[in-house]
Amino acid sequence: MTSSINSGRTCDVLVVGSGVAGLATALAAAHQGLDVIVAEQEAHFGGTAAISAGWAWVPGNPKGAAATGDTREEVETYLKALAPDTYNEAGVTAFLDTVAEAITFFEDNTEVNFVYPDKAPDYQMDLPGARIGGRAILPDDADARMLGERRHELQPYLSSYTVFGYMPQVGPDLNKVVQANRSLRAFCYVAGKLTRTWFDALVHRQPLKRTNGSALITRMVRSALDAGVTVWTATPVEALEQDDTGAITGAVLGGVHSGTVHARLGVVLAGGGFTGNTTLRRKHFPHDVTGDNHITPTIGHNGSSAEMAITAGGRISDAVFTPGSWAPVTEFRQLRDGRQRLFPHLRQIGLPGMITVDRTGRRFGNEALSYHDFGRQLLEHDKDHDDTYAWIIADAACMHTYGIGYAKPWPIPRKYFHDIGFLIKADTLAELAGKIGADPVTLEETVTRFNGFARSGVDEDFGRGSTAYNHFRGDPTHKPNPNLATLEKAPYYAVKIRMGDLGSFAGIDVDGHSAVIDDDGQVIPGLFAVGSAAVSVFGGGYPGYGSHIGPALIFGYRMGRDIARLKQRSASRAG
Ligand SMILES: Cc1cc2nc3c(=O)[nH]c(=O)nc-3n(C[C@H](O)[C@H](O)[C@H](O)COP(=O)(O)OP(=O)(O)OC[C@H]3O[C@@H](n4cnc5c(N)ncnc54)[C@H](O)[C@@H]3O)c2cc1C
Repeated sequence: MTSSINSGRTCDVLVVGSGVAGLATALAAAHQGLDVIVAEQEAHFGGTAAISAGWAWVPGNPKGAAATGDTREEVETYLKALAPDTYNEAGVTAFLDTVAEAITFFEDNTEVNFVYPDKAPDYQMDLPGARIGGRAILPDDADARMLGERRHELQPYLSSYTVFGYMPQVGPDLNKVVQANRSLRAFCYVAGKLTRTWFDALVHRQPLKRTNGSALITRMVRSALDAGVTVWTATPVEALEQDDTGAITGAVLGGVHSGTVHARLGVVLAGGGFTGNTTLRRKHFPHDVTGDNHITPTIGHNGSSAEMAITAGGRISDAVFTPGSWAPVTEFRQLRDGRQRLFPHLRQIGLPGMITVDRTGRRFGNEALSYHDFGRQLLEHDKDHDDTYAWIIADAACMHTYGIGYAKPWPIPRKYFHDIGFLIKADTLAELAGKIGADPVTLEETVTRFNGFARSGVDEDFGRGSTAYNHFRGDPTHKPNPNLATLEKAPYYAVKIRMGDLGSFAGIDVDGHSAVIDDDGQVIPGLFAVGSAAVSVFGGGYPGYGSHIGPALIFGYRMGRDIARLKQRSASRAG
């Protein structure tokens, strides 16, 4: 990486942030022949998108719709049911109008390719218009070498998600990994993947096979470089430049390429949300008025996009029914240096033999909902407390078969997971209750009652295991209900979860063209926001797998496609 001082570098479009929204904008703008700079504050490009599973919720994508017969009417019905009071008609219309065109653009004009799983149920299968498949898609795997030397600037994987360095694709690949302690075939498959990963790490200093969000970013950056986009890392955008008319004309950059960049058509804020910004969290997250009741696994979501928009006259919109995209997270310390590490529980807590209890030892909701809807339950349950937390509880059988998140199942030794403070173990439920500060009698009663539900296959308290989505999060081989098994084999285990997120849903207020608007609803010329930086297009609802990356891809594409026309629109209004 070479450093340079920009004394008055000019481009057409300056993009803040190299996540999925920023790169989608850059790709579509460069395709129009525009000169684009993407400035990324981190030493690595890709942001949270690069550590994500890479799913994109894009209903109406040509292959998915053709395979399932999905209709626009059904999608709208579902989205209205999901967020009835905050349904964003203009945003949803813009989104659905563009999905097919954008996905076709990426597949036909860039290195980005998608995989189309048959089954990826919407998160609220009990609502009208929900579908079991066809709407959520995944990026195809990639080889890091397609980035040449710039592969070393690719955001590394979230290490707590890798299996000894290997990152399984969240799909059939991951299903094999979780079967590896129960099937010789799956074991050999995983052994092959690990051998390859370790070889690459040794010889190439990086696992070359990229999956999930990392594959998406690899493919997007390759395409951006091919299209002539300038991608700078370690270069934070620090302040916007605004002229006398209030129009945004460029920005001041710090870091490796510090200086001023003039942007003829405008600046696109794609720097992610504000969940890493204590001040903004305290203001917009009701559970975090203290500023220390939330931990985010996102990368670079420091709220700088929001702050720059506010300074320029913009505002944060809270017109969403949940201000964040919730995810339970476990915090632990790295043994080597005590550094904080996080494990977001996005997949597992609806598996048989695992429950979650509150601080007293009581269940409080359906554990097989999505992480977001589970998070909503926890926030509601803990609303009278300053600290939001719960415990995952499992018995020895569950631990042996599935593990609990980062704490891997048999045959992986457990000592390490105890030493880092991830896993708590006890010989009896009463002893476990003592260790986690819960009431022993309450915890025993909770488990006894749940065991009854597991035997009958019906959770009478919270309906766990009652929808296709619940079952998808369970173990399909487990009978009678893929989400329910008794907890009766000692020892017992507990893992603490706190509230975290995958991005914010409250965000910079924009019009249907992603133009940032002020308190009077007037467009600030030359300033745009896409991705997690902008307010949620789904009104704070979380429709299904890929509810961040879907809109980030689509609105990023629209932004790049339309920015020249939008500039003319605001210039003619001003004239
Ligand atoms: C473990 C995990 C799994 C996930 N899986 C999925 C999934 O499968 N599907 C899905 O839809 N969502 C998923 N998410 C959420 C999703 O990844 C993010 O919400 C999404 O990446 C947001 O895209 P973005 O482009 O807005 O932000 P990001 O991808 O986070 O990119 C923003 C970038 O902007 C940079 N930046 C910020 N401020 C500045 C500045 N001032 N100057 C320069 N650069 C700046 C940041 O450093 C960052 O690199 C997941 C999240 C996590 C943590």
